[in-house]
Amino acid sequence: MNDLPELIFASNNAHKLKEIKALLPPGIRLLSLAEAQINTAMDEPFATLEDNALAKARQIKLLSGKDCFAEDSGLETEALNHEPGVFSARYAGEPTNDKANMDKLLLRLGNHSNRKARFRTVIALIWNNGEHLFEGICEGEIAMAPAGSGGFGYDPVFIPKGFTQSFAQMTAAEKNQISHRAKATAKLLAFLHNVMP
Ligand code: IMP
Repeated sequence: MNDLPELIFASNNAHKLKEIKALLPPGIRLLSLAEAQINTAMDEPFATLEDNALAKARQIKLLSGKDCFAEDSGLETEALNHEPGVFSARYAGEPTNDKANMDKLLLRLGNHSNRKARFRTVIALIWNNGEHLFEGICEGEIAMAPAGSGGFGYDPVFIPKGFTQSFAQMTAAEKNQISHRAKATAKLLAFLHNVMP
């Protein structure tokens, strides 16, 4: 059996790293930016998740010369024309603050009856100098108030479709089975298994 090669995950987010590590088979050696000894801020200057993910992956490829992938995620609400979308992290301004972001979202939604939302992840992989995009979507709705203390970001106000608990009330393992990031990661893994010699 061949081990998959080293891959750099272009992120400094400890929560995401933990989530993705838990989803990867043991044969893959995933390096965080710190483990790859890359100490640089990752810019997300573009208007789409796709462009931001590609920009981050290209930045790491330039710095390291290694295969790598980057992801960008956002929460999209139907009633608010897909807000906060690509601005999810800094919705309520900078420095980023999860509670302020959730408060702003709940305020903007008010008592709106359409609370449909989805998390969307785009992963950009640079593999053998080729660029590949993988998308994962988790449908759900925005709760009337935050609940739970797990996870990060908007987890306390996001109730995935078919469930009554918020992401923040689930265990990491439960969230990993249905999350946007898990779905995009599954596509990334399927690709990697396919191209391995
Ligand atoms: P990023 O640009 O991929 O870091 O994601 C942007 C923002 O979207 C994060 O800072 C969070 O606020 C939000 N977000 C992304 N994924 C999740 C998730 O799984 N749960 C809750 N919030 C998330």
